[in-house]
Amino acid sequence: MSAVSPASPMMAQYLGLKAGVADCLLFYRMGDFYELFFDDAVAAAATLDIALTKRGQHDGRDIPMCGVPVHSSETYLMRLIRGGHRVAIAEQIEYPADARKRGSKSVVARAIVRVVTPGTLTEAALLDARTSNWLVAVAPAPDRMGLAWCDVSTGVFRTASIAEGALEAELARLNPAEVIAPQGWDGVPATLRPRGDFDSAAATKRLQARFGVATLDGFGGFTREEAAAAGALLAYLAATAIGQLPLLQPPQSSPPSGVMAIDAATRASLELARTASGTRVGSLLDAVDSTVTGAGARLLADDLAAPLTDAEAINDRLDLVDWFIEAAVVRDRTREALRAGADLERALSRLALRRGGPRDLASVRDGLALALALKAALIGAPKLAAPPLLTATLDGIGAHGADIDALRAALVPEPPVDMASGGFIAPGYDAALDELRAAASDGRQLVAALETRLRGETGVAALKVRHNNVLGYHIEVAARHADPLMAAPGFVHRQTLAGVVRFGSVELQALGVRIAQAGDHALAAEASHFEELRDVVLARAAAIAATASALARLDVASGLAERASQGGWVRPRVDTSCAFEIIAGRHPVVEAACAKARQPFVANDCDLGTTQRLWLVTGPNMAGKSTFLRQNALLAVLAQAGSFVPAAAAHIGVVDRLFSRVGASDNLAQGRSTFMVEMVETAAILTTATSRSLIILDEVGRGTSTYDGLAIAWAVLEAVHDGLACRCLFATHYHELTRLSARLASLALVTVAVREWQGELVFLHEVVRGAADRSYGLAVAKLAGLPTPVIARAKEVLTRLEAGKAKTGGLAAALDELPLFAAAPAVAPGDALRDRLAAVSPDQLTPRAALDLMYELIGLL
Ligand code: ADP
Ligand code: MG
Repeated sequence: MSAVSPASPMMAQYLGLKAGVADCLLFYRMGDFYELFFDDAVAAAATLDIALTKRGQHDGRDIPMCGVPVHSSETYLMRLIRGGHRVAIAEQIEYPADARKRGSKSVVARAIVRVVTPGTLTEAALLDARTSNWLVAVAPAPDRMGLAWCDVSTGVFRTASIAEGALEAELARLNPAEVIAPQGWDGVPATLRPRGDFDSAAATKRLQARFGVATLDGFGGFTREEAAAAGALLAYLAATAIGQLPLLQPPQSSPPSGVMAIDAATRASLELARTASGTRVGSLLDAVDSTVTGAGARLLADDLAAPLTDAEAINDRLDLVDWFIEAAVVRDRTREALRAGADLERALSRLALRRGGPRDLASVRDGLALALALKAALIGAPKLAAPPLLTATLDGIGAHGADIDALRAALVPEPPVDMASGGFIAPGYDAALDELRAAASDGRQLVAALETRLRGETGVAALKVRHNNVLGYHIEVAARHADPLMAAPGFVHRQTLAGVVRFGSVELQALGVRIAQAGDHALAAEASHFEELRDVVLARAAAIAATASALARLDVASGLAERASQGGWVRPRVDTSCAFEIIAGRHPVVEAACAKARQPFVANDCDLGTTQRLWLVTGPNMAGKSTFLRQNALLAVLAQAGSFVPAAAAHIGVVDRLFSRVGASDNLAQGRSTFMVEMVETAAILTTATSRSLIILDEVGRGTSTYDGLAIAWAVLEAVHDGLACRCLFATHYHELTRLSARLASLALVTVAVREWQGELVFLHEVVRGAADRSYGLAVAKLAGLPTPVIARAKEVLTRLEAGKAKTGGLAAALDELPLFAAAPAVAPGDALRDRLAAVSPDQLTPRAALDLMYELIGLL
């Protein structure tokens, strides 16, 4: 094509399309490439690290351009999306030949067929198979907030009405790929959408129309803000998929009451799904996950992100895991079978969005067949009584015999990913198609025969018949053999290239046309079969989706059973008591790290039962305090998610809220001082925890000066003990706090044992009753490799400090008095002094009056 002039029709078309998707990069289809122009090109070239070129001029300036080949566009798309861009795709919607019929200058019609955003992806290449890809809509309402979230790639669709302050926690749980919110929203970063999309009345209508119902009550009913969020989500999906709506399950309102409340800070500090540095490796999820399918991994992630609070439901899950532990052979077979299956959920959603190909049909065929075989095996095999959740799960796997037969008859065993070159419909399925294929292949045999004949006739043994898109079938010989053929009858010169010359021939051309026509017709026949089969599958989408989720549940349960039997984990006793009794508990992540380093992990007990529900854990740095605290929190998460736990025994009364705070965690990157963060988070605990909560406080107060920190830690400990009366583990380096044990009846002192041996510090990692005798700071510093002269000097300073401390009674001396003040803190002593001072205007005092005032003030002391 020639260069684009300022007013070129093509540029006009481009600019028209671009105006409708100003916030996206526009992929403009030109033949085998998606081209980008202007600022889009500059941005994409930078993100993709590809060459930026020019194409013609617009308004007297060069137009920057870059392009990516269509066949490998997915990888480029992925990088752009990860780079924070949104991409609109404009395809050619007619054949260039048809455009030419309108005149030689006319531009091929193009239209935007899709807007690719992080929350609306379905391509296997763009998604992580083991992670849900949540798109979340936030609909603010007075006091409340409507939330709706869906995974377009699997069809899961949920809503919730939450308190305004709970948004951060919900988003931390979901870890969305994309958030949408109404124009004017100034909360978390989001894609802003028209306010009208969030209108609850319009949204309700949109939902009713989408799911073909007159009222949403059948789905359980929604609050207005939930409906607003769900409706906005639908509007956004329609806008990005340009009319092709994904297969969504009917929305389900999920009351947050059924799950353990875990706020964002707790999630982050316990590294439930991601570590502090953002990786999956090193998280609890990674340490537990033994699933063998993407759908199983996604369900496990959901389960762990939202542990249950209903003891009965938890025990149902545990029963199923237990069953898979007992039935070890069945477990192996189940996992083997599941591993072979493809991702049914995602294949189905691609088909629904018209993005699927023949391989997705095969995935459905194989996935369903596998489900039926598995169901039969699980019903037939075990001698043990089936637990209720197994029966319910297997009930979810419907009868799919007819679908499987239809797909088996139609498809070859391993079809290609996309339809472009055909070859996926099985021979024998369609007689007409078979004939077309035979004609094409006969033609190709005739071409081969012709080649042999021409070699004989010309005496050029290296003569070849070739095919390309420009010349079609043609004869190719080396340049040195070309001259005699130039004049030979039946040979028409077409092209001379370096080293080779190409000829056409009438006979060859006729054959070529025959082959091409047969091939085209065959492709068209295959394409229409694909559409029929897709419609067959989509008509059964709900049943297929139910089967897919049943398989995911089996994968999760058998995976947890596998993990438990590999790791020697036990079934926790979960009930409605307030027990928290762990015998020989281990931290699953640290234990794995220790195992790698060939070091033993020391198991520890914990009992926060009614008599001593608050444990104060002391011990030097590196002793294992944080590990001990976290492992107990993780055990609660695991147990309530329905998993066995790494311990010799565990008895856990359902925890309704879990809190974990770490003093002075470095959060400066987020723009708040670490100490401020620590205090804000601690305040949140003290105001929201209940007597059923579990609190982990790790060195709270560390982020400020010694006196402040100690005072805050002291007060928080008292508040937890007296006010909340819940289960709590509190690690501290303030040994002064151990004095509280005398006064707080439910406080137990434990310490992580160390021993000094030949001047070296040995960490035993063993939690024992009592308090640490000192902080061992210098010993730890020495271990860490602080230079010897520095250690020596520090020892000197310490000796002096300790001498001083002996004289004054030390930091803690005053604390013994504290309980008195704690009893009646309302009127602080010394207020009279303060009042008197406040009334003084120093500038008006004579020296004599100042002296009198001095005596008066001392009298007030
Ligand atoms: P603290 O909070 O007391 O400073 P940590 O809990 O951070 O100590 O533990 C420091 C290191 O000690 C951990 O990284 C781990 O390698 C090791 N450790 C902790 N607990 C144990 C244990 N129970 N068994 C074996 N090693 C442990
Ligand atoms: Mg620590």
